[in-house]
Amino acid sequence: MKMVLLGPPGAGKGTQAKLISEKYSIPHISTGDIFRKNISEKTKLGIEAKKYMDNGQLVPDKVTIDIVKDRLTEDDCKEGFLLDGFPRTVKQAEALDEFLNSADGKIDAALLIDVAEEFILERMTGRRVCSSCGASYHIKFNPSKIDGKCDLCNGDLIQRKDDTEATVKERLDVYSKQTQPLINYYKNQNVLLKIEGTKEISEVFDEICNSLKAIK
Ligand code: ADP
Ligand code: ADP
Ligand code: ZN
Repeated sequence: MKMVLLGPPGAGKGTQAKLISEKYSIPHISTGDIFRKNISEKTKLGIEAKKYMDNGQLVPDKVTIDIVKDRLTEDDCKEGFLLDGFPRTVKQAEALDEFLNSADGKIDAALLIDVAEEFILERMTGRRVCSSCGASYHIKFNPSKIDGKCDLCNGDLIQRKDDTEATVKERLDVYSKQTQPLINYYKNQNVLLKIEGTKEISEVFDEICNSLKAIK
């Protein structure tokens, strides 16, 4: 299955992506994680991406599209994949369709995790992420078993530099201007699945699995 995850920052995309990827045995591809890995390794890409990410702006389409295309040509994507945080602009969505079309493929589902803005700030400022595998936790809603350590890989949990109130506000603005148009884009392709994202993590996951049954 070839899927994309849509939703505002803090909707729970990363959290659900880990669960979906495990259940459906497809790779979880997060452009945010790819950029953060490059930042920590101080690669040329990382240095470039950091300038945008620190301010809550999008990394330019050209750079982002090339990275995703490269990743999708790897062997583990042959049976499907789950994109998390990509596409974020109509241009990225069009480039993805073009890339898949050339191999006679298409997106099977665009899962929109719907969460109203009033919930976002608390989710984002309480978020802690694993510096090693990228797993997301929340100090109140989803704490790790051992304080400061990842349940999955025992990596150190850190607070993302862009999870501050001011940057979150900027990212929400960027989302509504540049990413929200993708909801209609995928609706027009008849692949949009809207999921209520304000319930508990396990309930959101159940709803995702149920809605995917219909298309399998
Ligand atoms: P995204 O990838 O969409 O930015 P995350 O998966 O990182 O979102 O989730 C953002 C924050 O909200 C994290 O701290 C996560 O633990 C928490 N979270 C995710 N899903 C839920 C939920 N259903 N209810 C409460 N908190 C959640
Ligand atoms: P969140 O979990 O809050 O949705 P991500 O980890 O997906 O955030 O993204 C963090 C930052 O990485 C974004 O604010 C943006 O600067 C950059 N980024 C990630 N994916 C993309 C993309 N598809 N296009 C442009 N920039 C991106
Ligand atoms: Zn981890």
